[in-house]
Amino acid sequence: MKAAMTTDTPAPESRSLNFIEEIMEADLADGKHGGRICTRFPPEPNGYLHIGHAKSICINFGLARKYGGSTNLRFDDTNPTKEEVEYVDSIRDDVRWLGFDWAGEHYASDYFQFLYDYAEHLVQTGRAYVCDLDDEAIRDYRGNFFKAGRNSPYRDRGVEENLQLFRAMRAGAFEDGARVLRAKIDMQSPNMNMRDPLMYRIRRVHHHRTGHAWPIYPMYDYAHGVSDAIERVTHSICTLEFEDHRPLYDWFLEQDTDGRFFQRPLPRQIEFARLNLTYTVMSKRRLLELVKEGHVQGWDDPRMPTITGLRRRGYTPESIRAFADKVGVAKRDMVADVGLLEHCVREDLAAKARRAMAVLRPLKLVIENLAEGEVHWLDVANHPEDAALGRRKVPFSRELFIEREDFQEVPPKKWFRLAPGAEVRLKNACLVRCTQVIKDAAGEPVELRCTWDPASLGGDAPDGRKVKGTLHWVSAAHAVQAEVRLYDRLFTAKDPMDVPEGSDWRGGINPGSCEVLSGAWLEPALAGAKASERFQFERLGYFVADLDSRPGAPVFNRTVGLKDSWAKLETQGNG
Ligand code: ATP
Ligand code: MG
Repeated sequence: MKAAMTTDTPAPESRSLNFIEEIMEADLADGKHGGRICTRFPPEPNGYLHIGHAKSICINFGLARKYGGSTNLRFDDTNPTKEEVEYVDSIRDDVRWLGFDWAGEHYASDYFQFLYDYAEHLVQTGRAYVCDLDDEAIRDYRGNFFKAGRNSPYRDRGVEENLQLFRAMRAGAFEDGARVLRAKIDMQSPNMNMRDPLMYRIRRVHHHRTGHAWPIYPMYDYAHGVSDAIERVTHSICTLEFEDHRPLYDWFLEQDTDGRFFQRPLPRQIEFARLNLTYTVMSKRRLLELVKEGHVQGWDDPRMPTITGLRRRGYTPESIRAFADKVGVAKRDMVADVGLLEHCVREDLAAKARRAMAVLRPLKLVIENLAEGEVHWLDVANHPEDAALGRRKVPFSRELFIEREDFQEVPPKKWFRLAPGAEVRLKNACLVRCTQVIKDAAGEPVELRCTWDPASLGGDAPDGRKVKGTLHWVSAAHAVQAEVRLYDRLFTAKDPMDVPEGSDWRGGINPGSCEVLSGAWLEPALAGAKASERFQFERLGYFVADLDSRPGAPVFNRTVGLKDSWAKLETQGNG
């Protein structure tokens, strides 16, 4: 049940409270937690964060910031085999890059002893038992949505025996999978999560922080709420698929009937809709497959929906935060249009990025009535509206490069760009008229001969004649050669996972999602661009200097083109 995104999102200032804000404000008004707000962002360090996580980060950190509270970063590292230190570091970087900082940095593994002690308490009070059924039998006994479960034959083990077995599990006496610890709740519950869920399983594997200290590992549902309560989180915000787990979240915490383990009031779980994006896959598992199978260059490939990929693509933290804000907080799953994300970065960069000229696919243009060696250094503003972004000198000389696609020998109707005999404006420079086309043996134009009107330098012709087309260009003698990478959507399919039974979602990968141009030319001011510096290349789009850039050998990535189809849809009101 995926609802289409609505486009009439009101501006943040005028927006009414979302349902999480309503809960928080009510709790603040009641003095529920003594006026405290504490949230947490709990990633599992088994991959890089993606735009969906960014949404969760913006909600958790954003709400705490709004209400003068704090947010913990908690690595949910209860699943030892999949977790890696590389991921922990990347998660920290990504959260900071997005513009947030955490109050406490925690690891669920720091609570292993506490979790164990509380589990023993549940065993001692008859609320948990050791079960010897194997995975398959447990599943079978659990029943299903239509069929009530049956009690495990081990359910009525005595407290002493349970305690002894659980301690032996902890001491490493049993093989992986030999036994589990289960909560004793209700095998007839209509909520499957309440049918004696697993609390611990035996896994004698190495953990990235605790080494071999623990042969047993707590399950997510058990560890999560307890970790929240230990940290005195007030509002534990998670995605909708945990809605059915909420009674279990509460159950685990409420078994501390005499308040020996947790301070009151207990944290409250609140669910919101997971963010999905068109033309991409989102789950870490799928993204890992893309990386491992070489469909992309790595987690930070600019086509990836990861935070690190978006960053390398040229996205700003502000644009991602604006996107999260526009998407809003919903209670129903939704798919946001990637066009909205692109709109957000375009809007941000339109205001911030310096302008520059670059020619991606060059065609030489020679101005015959301009002397060889004559150079006009034009004084050009870096931004049409923001003088604070400064000015630069742009060389104009006899030999230039223009964009090959800006010339047509036999132009169609309403062609305002260059053609034999036609006159155009060179951006920031002057008017030129094409007088001759020089072609190669195959009949392809390789050079245009032109004349310029020196009286038009810096603007229009004094006689007031109209010229409609304006082209970008660079001076050949001064230009710097560069590699430019043009990225497109990674999938041609709007919903890559929507494939017929038996076909592979990888079939939707866009074979043209990265085009590398090695012979682009940049105006000299771009030669020294540092990695992650962002520009608008006039008429072409927004570009960012890539990490692979070297002095004298710049590499730029296209972040996004100039044309905003999202904005158009929005004004038509049918987005
Ligand atoms: P994935 O399914 O992509 O692997 P996950 O839910 O397993 O993601 P976690 O590391 O467990 O990833 O998630 C950390 C936090 O981010 C959780 O609170 C989770 O609910 C939230 N989160 C993950 N994916 C999304 C999403 N698409 N939209 C909103 N929040 C998300
Ligand atoms: Mg997860």
